[in-house]
Amino acid sequence: MPAPEPVGDDFSRPGATAYAAEWARAVRRIGFVPLSAAETERLLVSLTERLARALRAPTFSARPAEEVGRALVEAHLTEPGVLDWSVQALGDRFLPWVLPAREDLPELRERIASLQGAVAAGFSRALRDRVFSQQERIARSAWQARDAVEQALRDSEARFRAVFTGAAIGIGIAGVDGHIIEVNQSFADMLGYTVAEMRQMNVSALAHADDAAGMWELYQELVEGKRDSARVEKRYYRKDGSVVWTDLAVSLIRYDDGRPRFTVAMIEDITQRYELQQRLRFQALHDPLTGLPNRTLFFETLGGVFAAAGPEQRVGLCFIDLDGFKAVNDSLGHDLGDRLLQVIARRLSDCVAGRGHLVARMGGDEFVILVDSGGGLDDAVEVAELALAAVSAPVHVADQQLAVSASIGIVDCPAAETSAGELMKAADTTLYWAKAEGRGRWAVYDPERSAADIARSALAANLPAALDRGEFVLHYQPIVSLLDGSMVAVEALVRWQHPELGLLGPDRFIGLAEETGLIVRLGAWVLRQACRDAESWRRAFGESTPVVSVNLAARQADDPAIVETVAEALQHTGLPAELLQLELTESAVMGSAGEPLRALHQLADLGLRLAIDDFGTGYSNLAYLRRLPIHCVKLAGPFVEGIRGDGAVADHRDERIVDALVRLAHALELSVTAEAVETEVQAERLRALRCDTGQGRWFGPPMPADDIRARLAD
Ligand code: C2E
Ligand code: MG
Ligand code: MG
Repeated sequence: MPAPEPVGDDFSRPGATAYAAEWARAVRRIGFVPLSAAETERLLVSLTERLARALRAPTFSARPAEEVGRALVEAHLTEPGVLDWSVQALGDRFLPWVLPAREDLPELRERIASLQGAVAAGFSRALRDRVFSQQERIARSAWQARDAVEQALRDSEARFRAVFTGAAIGIGIAGVDGHIIEVNQSFADMLGYTVAEMRQMNVSALAHADDAAGMWELYQELVEGKRDSARVEKRYYRKDGSVVWTDLAVSLIRYDDGRPRFTVAMIEDITQRYELQQRLRFQALHDPLTGLPNRTLFFETLGGVFAAAGPEQRVGLCFIDLDGFKAVNDSLGHDLGDRLLQVIARRLSDCVAGRGHLVARMGGDEFVILVDSGGGLDDAVEVAELALAAVSAPVHVADQQLAVSASIGIVDCPAAETSAGELMKAADTTLYWAKAEGRGRWAVYDPERSAADIARSALAANLPAALDRGEFVLHYQPIVSLLDGSMVAVEALVRWQHPELGLLGPDRFIGLAEETGLIVRLGAWVLRQACRDAESWRRAFGESTPVVSVNLAARQADDPAIVETVAEALQHTGLPAELLQLELTESAVMGSAGEPLRALHQLADLGLRLAIDDFGTGYSNLAYLRRLPIHCVKLAGPFVEGIRGDGAVADHRDERIVDALVRLAHALELSVTAEAVETEVQAERLRALRCDTGQGRWFGPPMPADDIRARLAD
């Protein structure tokens, strides 16, 4: 590097600038510099000038060089290489560059050496100061941080204290062995103790027999660390013995390693809320009129009985319904009706008081007594007898004396074999039986009878569709002259060709058809079918065609349209009226009003024959029949049965009755048909008694129309 020319100044300004530029380059080369290149150079120019002035000062001081060293550190030029370079360059090239004219002065060399030392000392002192101040800053922040944490702890402790002592909720802390460490005032107040007294207690002393099931198991799991919290509604007894209901939440606090440390309990007094709930629950489960448990509570209790029942346990109940209550209500008014129900309700609960049976009002005038004593049917019947007696004593309400009775359906069955729903259904069915059997009595559930009932109603429900599908058929049974054995008539007997049950006799469904009214439509079909068959025989066999005898049910004969129906059947099929006979029972002839059917004359006027069926089973007066247009009586089977002809056991009374009946009938110009003739002897005796015709297995069973046709063809 060529030495610059000295100028007449106290130092060479271009030399100083060049020296500073070289210094700046070196510094930037050595390490990171937090200044721009221009800033670095400006700083180093000023430091170079300071060094130059110090060197030339009339009285020498190394102090400015020390400040140069410090300035380097303050400018963050703290890399060790920076100091090395700065000190070395100061010795090697400062003089020839910056003060070229006086470079040989030994005095200046000495001064350079001092400056070198001072730069180094200033640099390192500044560096040390900086480290100290940094450490101090760190220490100060550490102290500040610790203060803040301690303050926060103190704050939180104070807050906790405030919450603990001032809380309206009770808070208590207990060890895992149950000893109470601390409780707040609210906790102590809630249970009527002082805080000091409670600190002497163990939580187990607060246990009570009525505590919710499983509650203490929960607590045990908690203190064993198997769970972290538990919440229950618990009843406590205060020191004075009164009861307080609480909402209790217990949490487990653990050591850092997870071991259970203590428990914290928070309890809230919910006595008022609980009592309100209880009141509402009572209202929801009791009948407001009688105060008895309502159906909801009954079913809840019944459900409980089923749930708890062992395999052998039986469940019994009496289902009670007042007889004719609606009439009382309608005639005496609802107020009296209500009071009657109140009296009955009290009597029912009184009559089983002490037995512990639940008496509930199911609604309206229906009550139920749950007989869950395990004594079986005997118990239930005994309860039913008590209930009937209780109800039947006269009731006085508002100057009125009322005679009340009730019907009771009793069900008693093994709990394992039924459900609450089935039990109630059975009770309902049985109650219906008791009513049907005449009221004021009890009936016991009989599964077989119930099954038969169900089958019967299923059958009844199917009847109309069966008629539409053409499932009914007619069989015909010969009615034979006892004089010459000829088949003078046939009786049409209906059968149901049931798709699943096979061929059903009329005993299975005629009654149902009468109850449901379907008999009118079914009877019309029978009539028309019988006329059609008879007309086809007449076409084929002419003169020898038998009369066709068709049964008319009472309800059918009572039907205003009966004459029209019969006339239409004849007209439609073309059968002459004299080939049709209608059979009516004595009761059908007399009609529901107790007067002979008006239609009888009109029917007779059509030209057909009328017969009294099952004659002798009713109470009709033969002489009375004289005034009616009757042509024939059919002697009921039981009379004929008595005519067996086997001398030893023969009961001649039946024979004498038949004899008298036949004579009387003949006197009235009625012909007589004997039914159910089963033996030759019977046929013979009946012929001897001058019976006109006979019908029964002896002459041939009921058979399909084709068989009759074949018999006619013979
Ligand atoms: P019913 O009119 O007295 O008919 C005679 C019944 O006696 C028939 O029973 C017949 O099968 C039965 N029988 C025949 N031979 C003998 C015998 O030797 N000994 C005995 N003990 N009985 C014999 P079925 O067919 O079961 O009819 C029963 C009842 O059903 C009839 O009694 C009748 O009242 C009614 N019925 C049948 N078909 C009809 C009908 O189309 N309409 C109406 N309304 N009732 C009908
Ligand atoms: Mg008949
Ligand atoms: Mg008969």
